[in-house]
Amino acid sequence: MTKYVYAFYEGNKEMKTLLGGKGANLAEMTKIGLPVPPGFTVTTQACNQYYEDGKQIHESIIKEIFENLKNLEEKIAKKFGDEKNPLLVSVRSGAVFSMPGMMDTILNLGLNDQTVIGMAKATENERFAYDSYRRFIQMFGDVVLEIPKYKFDHILEKEKQINHAELDTELTTQNLKNIIEEYKKLVKKESRKDFPQDPKEQLLMAIQAVFSSWNNPRAIVYRELNDIPNHLGTAVNVQSMVFGNMGDTSGTGVAFTRNPATGEKKLFGEFLMNAQGEDVVAGIRTPQPIAQLENTMPKVYKQFADVANLLENHYKDMQDIEFTIEKGKLFMLQTRNGKRTATAAINVAVDMVNEKIIDKETAILRIEPNQLDQLLHPTFEEKAMKEATKITKGLPASPGAATGKIYFNAQDVVNAANEGEKVILVRLETSPEDIEGMVAAQGILTARGGMTSHAAVVARGMGKCCVAGCGELRVDETKKVFKVGDKIFKEGDYISLDGNTGNVYEGSIQTQDPELSGNFGTLMNWADEMRKLKIRTNADTPKDAAVAVKFGAEGIGLCRTEHMFFEEERIPAVRKMILSKTVEERVAALDKLLPFQKNDFAGIFKEMGERSVTIRLLDPPLHEFLPHHDEDIKALSKQIEISYEQLKETVEELKELNPMLGHRGCRLSITYPEICEMQTKAIIMAAIEVKKEKNIDIEPEIMVPLIGSEKELEIIKDLIIKTANEVMDEMDEKLKFKVGTMIEVPRAAVTADEIAKHAEFFSFGTNDLTQMTYGFSRDDAGKFIPEYRKKEIFEKDPFQRLDQVGVGKLMKMAVELGKSQREDIKLGICGEHGGDPDSIEFCHKIGLHYVSCSPYRVPIARLAAARAAVQNK
Ligand code: ADP
Ligand code: MG
Ligand code: MG
Repeated sequence: MTKYVYAFYEGNKEMKTLLGGKGANLAEMTKIGLPVPPGFTVTTQACNQYYEDGKQIHESIIKEIFENLKNLEEKIAKKFGDEKNPLLVSVRSGAVFSMPGMMDTILNLGLNDQTVIGMAKATENERFAYDSYRRFIQMFGDVVLEIPKYKFDHILEKEKQINHAELDTELTTQNLKNIIEEYKKLVKKESRKDFPQDPKEQLLMAIQAVFSSWNNPRAIVYRELNDIPNHLGTAVNVQSMVFGNMGDTSGTGVAFTRNPATGEKKLFGEFLMNAQGEDVVAGIRTPQPIAQLENTMPKVYKQFADVANLLENHYKDMQDIEFTIEKGKLFMLQTRNGKRTATAAINVAVDMVNEKIIDKETAILRIEPNQLDQLLHPTFEEKAMKEATKITKGLPASPGAATGKIYFNAQDVVNAANEGEKVILVRLETSPEDIEGMVAAQGILTARGGMTSHAAVVARGMGKCCVAGCGELRVDETKKVFKVGDKIFKEGDYISLDGNTGNVYEGSIQTQDPELSGNFGTLMNWADEMRKLKIRTNADTPKDAAVAVKFGAEGIGLCRTEHMFFEEERIPAVRKMILSKTVEERVAALDKLLPFQKNDFAGIFKEMGERSVTIRLLDPPLHEFLPHHDEDIKALSKQIEISYEQLKETVEELKELNPMLGHRGCRLSITYPEICEMQTKAIIMAAIEVKKEKNIDIEPEIMVPLIGSEKELEIIKDLIIKTANEVMDEMDEKLKFKVGTMIEVPRAAVTADEIAKHAEFFSFGTNDLTQMTYGFSRDDAGKFIPEYRKKEIFEKDPFQRLDQVGVGKLMKMAVELGKSQREDIKLGICGEHGGDPDSIEFCHKIGLHYVSCSPYRVPIARLAAARAAVQNK
């Protein structure tokens, strides 16, 4: 028969799934002999059973509860509902993961009109007894009967006013009795029933309320945000009360064993004398810093400090502890691993290794890779933040903090930035034409688009702050204003963006640069010792490459060449090339681009030295390089001296219904081999040049995008080799280079053995591979993915976390097929997933050699790769 209730002395800290976090730790503290008021835990399984039984606590479970209650009565020699010396309990929710939004704790349960008299006599403290009763009615009324809390507060405040009491401790017993009468009237009015007087009924109602709170909207939203499964359920802890409100030698407090903001090894917390439960955090009276307890009650302080130390050593992690002092006696009420900032997490982990409490591997596992993000971008100064006025909120698309004047198109941004202004680019949504503006801006704000919109992806790649999909924003790009409600912001007005929260603020807020402290470096070195995966970066410019190297990148896994095509000086030649009617014309236009491309690559090779660099041939459909609006087409036709009609015709011609599935990637090299030739030339020339200049070894990797069949790659590879040989002959130099392909079309994955005949490396382009495997475009998927997540079709956005079941299966297949053909084939990933910790673990498991991610995610990837290696030993 299933056991649904465990006394604290029957459990331990390994039983979290069953007893919840709070229950398991109360049991553990009991087990190691700490002063924990006795009690029992009704399991998470009982919660699930409650839902299965149609929201009824099963009779057998009720029976177990009362058996345990009896046991508890014997243990502390008090009886529940006893009119002379009543046992009182707290009822505390406790899920497996600590979750705000669950039901608040109820204290002093078991009091009623009779037992309160008994308690007053037994403790010889009438005021205390009535204070406890009034607290109980208030908590029970609020939490179980769902009567708005302010209605109780109102009654309390009124009584204080009438009696000129500043603090609730100044209320007399008679005042408290009056309040209780008013509370009971309120309960009767609101719930149409008398306040329940039977303690057993009170207890069952409270337990039931905890179970139902598992499915209150706040809790559901929290679970969704934090990937906590719905089926876990919550446990309920029933614990005998100890009292911090019995006078001046009683009190209650909370403390961390180390500072949760900085990691400093020093008790950090607060306490309040003559107080109960939530008084400390509720801000009723100002609590005192924990260090002060040493003066107030030296013995208790010493005992508490020892217990804190013991708990930290026992759990081998920083603890967040709740305690109560009853008439000079210390009781422990909770302990858990403390939540901390990224800075504190790193400092605590490294310190604990130095203190020999944990080993390096444990230290690595203590830090959530994504948490590092906080440390790698500018943030707002805390002080300045306090005075900031929030305008609205969008999606936190790319982290960091940005402040600047708003401009509404790329050109205006560039102009203002050239004048030395700090600028924020505001757009309905961005497109490749906005790149230059995005580069010049401090941050980007868009009204439309999701977490994988153009703005979001590009901004993350640049490590630039971006708030996207800000629905309340009404942007008028032509009038150069945006509105939120009836507030209007014009070109040149200051705003500030918080890319970590998605908040948008009025005016300018001071920012501060990231500081990578000494311990951060130490931790990264440990990670590097442990990881098997190499970490590369996606970088298109020497500047990005330099940032990435600073963060520890070991190579470039994806250098996109199209961004180079967009720059102002070059775009005319690019457009000429696209508009060419003959091969000769096209070659002439490409010849103009060649020196630019060569210099771009040379810059990158110089920055990267002997590290591997993978350069991808031109990928996007050509129409992206042409204007689409009539005025722009007219302007361009004048500029490049082609008739408007002819230009318009070409623009129309290049328009595609499904550009994602259209004339792009290697298909461009097949139809316009000249483009591939020019890019190959530029790569080989640049490599030879830098190799000679710096006297180093360079072996560029030329990557062909969007291959779907063996034959495509065969043709393009032949062309690359032929062109490279010509360049080498001409320069009279030798250079080693590799030719490989992206695996991003499902057909490439399933025919990877064929493709590996010609490819020296594979790099998984998981953005496209996800789109094509699912058959939806990521530019449109934002519209329905939220609904898919709500209906639990997707646990997570598959563009953020790799779909290991489907897309991952194709990857695994490609790895195996590729290796069967070519044993030493190099394998990597360059999609956005290359920076996602879960996806990185998957890449480790299927035996890739490297992951490539945006420069600012390199430290995250290093840590994630180390954790993957440790966890999959
Ligand atoms: P939360 O999960 O919100 O922290 P808890 O269940 O820990 O809620 O309860 C909050 C506070 O209530 C505790 O920190 C403690 O001060 C008080 N409390 C809970 N149970 C007891 C008890 N048995 N005796 C005295 N105080 C208690
Ligand atoms: Mg607590
Ligand atoms: Mg692609």
